[in-house]
Amino acid sequence: MQLYELNLHEMIEGLKAKKFSADELLTSCQNRIDSLEKNLNALITRLDDKKISNPSGILAGVPTILKDNICTRDIKTTAASKILGEWKPPYDATVWKLLRDAGSVLIGKANLDEFAMGSSCTKSAYGATKNPHDISRVPGGSSGGSAAAVAAGYVPFSLGSDTGGSIRQPASLCGVYGFKPTYGMVSRYGLISYGSSLDQIGPFARTVRDLQIVMSVLAHHDEMDSSSFREKNYDFSYDESKLNLKGKKIALVKEFQSFNLEPSIANAMDKIKKILEDEGAEIIEVSLPVVSKYSLACYYALAMSEAHTNLERYDGVRYGYTVQDASGLKEMFERVRSYGFGPEVKYRIIAGTCLTEPSRCDEYYVAATKVRTLVAQEFARAFTQTDFILQPAASSKAPKINELDQIDELKSYEADLYTLPVNLAGLPGLSFFTGYDDDNLPVGLQLIGARWSDPEILNAGIVIENHTGSPKIANGGLN
Ligand code: GLN
Repeated sequence: MQLYELNLHEMIEGLKAKKFSADELLTSCQNRIDSLEKNLNALITRLDDKKISNPSGILAGVPTILKDNICTRDIKTTAASKILGEWKPPYDATVWKLLRDAGSVLIGKANLDEFAMGSSCTKSAYGATKNPHDISRVPGGSSGGSAAAVAAGYVPFSLGSDTGGSIRQPASLCGVYGFKPTYGMVSRYGLISYGSSLDQIGPFARTVRDLQIVMSVLAHHDEMDSSSFREKNYDFSYDESKLNLKGKKIALVKEFQSFNLEPSIANAMDKIKKILEDEGAEIIEVSLPVVSKYSLACYYALAMSEAHTNLERYDGVRYGYTVQDASGLKEMFERVRSYGFGPEVKYRIIAGTCLTEPSRCDEYYVAATKVRTLVAQEFARAFTQTDFILQPAASSKAPKINELDQIDELKSYEADLYTLPVNLAGLPGLSFFTGYDDDNLPVGLQLIGARWSDPEILNAGIVIENHTGSPKIANGGLN
């Protein structure tokens, strides 16, 4: 067994027991990247030549990768856009500060759909990332690079961001665990904003226990983020006495039952229901009529409206790409933004501008904020009847990259229906591995909980993982 194949908790134990050194571990991960990166294109920036001297902290000497919309001081941060050019942030995102203080070593910045807008990781100015289980397929997105990096064994854990599913959907398509925490549980300071009221940073890993370790480092109040929680401390420690689902209620959403699922996802639902029942949980049904009918329109109205204001700041003056020979400000803005943004980002800026334009704002943006309240209330009511909700994390298996053109643009938005209501209501959601389908592709599902039930969801995830087993590292196109 190679060192890169170890899971996070095994690496931590091995380093502590001095079975191997941090340098040996780093070399093993870097060799893995060397052999696969030309197949996968999971990284925008590689950070080599690290010498590790006496690391300390719970993640001491453990390599990691961050999605490239998370700011890292003096290290190029692109959001996969040409508009940021060679921009090097003057400060660190809080999440990176916390990981670094815990001893983790940054070895790369991961590819994404430009500004985190997309579900395929093909809409990047740096080219598409490939799914490590089948390099003719997408890894999902927008955090496709972070998911692929963990699935392929580059690192034992990575960070992504999730505005409408961008952690949970690629985790499911790449066969790893991905966790979107409750909105406010993890600081967004230093995350390049897409839809600020929806964005949330979270981890990918190859076991749920590893997610717990990363969450124990990340879940802290941050004064630099006004939406950061401050009520109490959350306990993410691994505790066998809490791995028990006896008497817990786990709900299926009534309205989603009539939707067509791919057989592999339907089979996974049946398999997991059986596991949960064997563990003594009760499977019930909850009705979410507003969530199922209006979330999609509500999400895109809000996400695009917020995106258009958030992306106003890229004007050629303050960040990255600029032109020197424009005849005036207007020409500079036009040239910078025309060249700098890709088509999907431009589309969303234009749509967001229309949705919030004064004569339409009440009808669209304001209406969407009201629907959002109804969505959150409906979930809150459901969580008085159930502990968790079980549903797919993605509506299909990973599409082939060369077939993406045939998927209607609106259909690709609809594919997020299972993930984005969670962001509207600020809930935590775990995307978990269930097994492999007939094509040897991983199949994931999602467990959703009430706000601040993050530790309980991860405990439930471990109970499931104890039955399904953890995923294998993907071969990334190597034979
Ligand atoms: N696919 C969704 C979108 O494009 C979600 C993206 C995300 O979570 N960042 O908006």
